Amino acid sequence: MPVGTTRTTHGGQVALRGVVAMDGPSGTGKSTVSRRLAQSCAAAYLDTGAMYRAATLAVLRAGLGEDAPAGEMTEVATGARMESGTDPSSPTITLDGDDVSAEIRGPEVTGLVSAVSALPDVRTRLVARQHALIEAAVSRGGGIVVEGRDIGTVVVPDAPLKVYLTASPEVRAARRGRQNARAGREADLHTTLADVERRDRLDSSRRVSPLYAAADALVLDTDRLSADAVLDRLRELVAERGLDG
Ligand code: C5P
Repeated sequence: MPVGTTRTTHGGQVALRGVVAMDGPSGTGKSTVSRRLAQSCAAAYLDTGAMYRAATLAVLRAGLGEDAPAGEMTEVATGARMESGTDPSSPTITLDGDDVSAEIRGPEVTGLVSAVSALPDVRTRLVARQHALIEAAVSRGGGIVVEGRDIGTVVVPDAPLKVYLTASPEVRAARRGRQNARAGREADLHTTLADVERRDRLDSSRRVSPLYAAADALVLDTDRLSADAVLDRLRELVAERGLDG
């Protein structure tokens, strides 16, 4: 079903219609602006990165690490029981019934997530869940802002608005560093920059669904843009495309 083009409204309120696909590497401010955009349009919000992170946490909890056979990692990750909330005011994700929203941001998960998300069967399973959540939001009569790495290219290739956020690795590492500090996670800038560059390399070079901007995505460089400025631009784009309800 072409989930990206549904034209429903949200009970007469100003609302988003259809799907906004938000892609880009880590540290571009994607999560902040995607959540705020969804909140400001009474839309749902789906963080697909959190799903790959929860699958990775399941792999770690099963005692598997980087050197584990791909088949074993795939079996655990595809069998993980997770539930993703789509409320932008409190996006949550559970694994085996536990809220793991904070735990999935830790260094162990961050270190392994690119390897788990490169496994083809893991992607097939999680993309199927993403489609179900997106279709549920759209069929409730609202829109949804979906963020990830392959939303405009693979998950919702017919999305009526696709945005690809970029920023230099140094700016992204500095943002990640500030986020880590706020969450009480220690990491020096050098280590954070190395992690950002390593994940960029792995995410962009994997065989299945690599990270790249869709040909019809609007590319926004956020190096010199505040979150407020990016949000203003996104709201303009929603209005220009006639996606406001
Ligand atoms: O967005 P976040 O940094 O939380 O994503 C964590 C990892 O999940 C990414 O580095 C990438 O390996 C993977 N991911 C993905 N496809 C998505 C979203 C995230 O492969 N749609």
